[in-house]
Amino acid sequence: DFSVSINHTSKDELGELANSIQTLANDLNHLKKERNEFLASISHELRTPLTYVKGYADIARRKGISEEERNKYLHIIYEESEHLSSLVKDLFELAKIDQHSFVIKKEKVSMCEFIKNLTQKIEPALHKKKINLIVTCPTGIYANLDRSRFEQVMINLLDNALKYSSSESTVTLKVKVNDVTNKLTISVEDEGIGIPESEIPLIFNRFHRVEKSRSRESGGTGLGLSIVKEIVEAHGGKVFVDSQYGKGTVITIEIDQF
Ligand code: ADP
Repeated sequence: DFSVSINHTSKDELGELANSIQTLANDLNHLKKERNEFLASISHELRTPLTYVKGYADIARRKGISEEERNKYLHIIYEESEHLSSLVKDLFELAKIDQHSFVIKKEKVSMCEFIKNLTQKIEPALHKKKINLIVTCPTGIYANLDRSRFEQVMINLLDNALKYSSSESTVTLKVKVNDVTNKLTISVEDEGIGIPESEIPLIFNRFHRVEKSRSRESGGTGLGLSIVKEIVEAHGGKVFVDSQYGKGTVITIEIDQF
């Protein structure tokens, strides 16, 4: 730990300097603690799927097990490898954000065209879960966005809406202009399992999941929303959550119009 002990309490310049150094030292200690916790979470998150892969690979190669059993184990190995790829992809994204080597390349984007393109991409996932997607987007709305990063934001939100809803339910994607603030809002609403009130402030934390098992079963990494928040804030925007446990969730993004 960084430790400083400065007993200069006077109100002169030296006193102020001592105060600043003390604050800086406290901040550094805090950052160090956060970094260590983050690294510990990463090792834990990577270890779990690796344990499955190793364990099932070991069983699958044994002599005498049936073809059916072997296929079952290979399937688990495949799923766990997929999970590992998502983790590595999300971690890489966060590392870029943290290192500030993450550049936002904004351009004028027509919202309707953007949304149309997006819905085409998620069509197979919607179809697979028989989810009905309702989209409303008034024409002639433009935003100043990094197209590919914002696409990632929307895919993360839609992906969550699908993951945490039952099949044959409805997901609503709305683009609106707020009459009062003149800002643009994009909301993703689902009729899924919802988030308990006490968990709402925590869901943007890295690796935070409401229930570890329900998220892991659906392939979640616990990093999606933290990436959403970082990207939206890098655009000067905000993210809001409104959820009722057992009823559904609305995630709203607010950004400036072009
Ligand atoms: P994950 O990859 O686990 O989905 P996220 O960072 O995207 O991670 O979300 C964090 C947690 O917030 C999830 O594990 C889930 O418990 C909860 N969550 C996010 N979106 C929704 C939603 N639309 N409905 C219900 N719970 C959600």
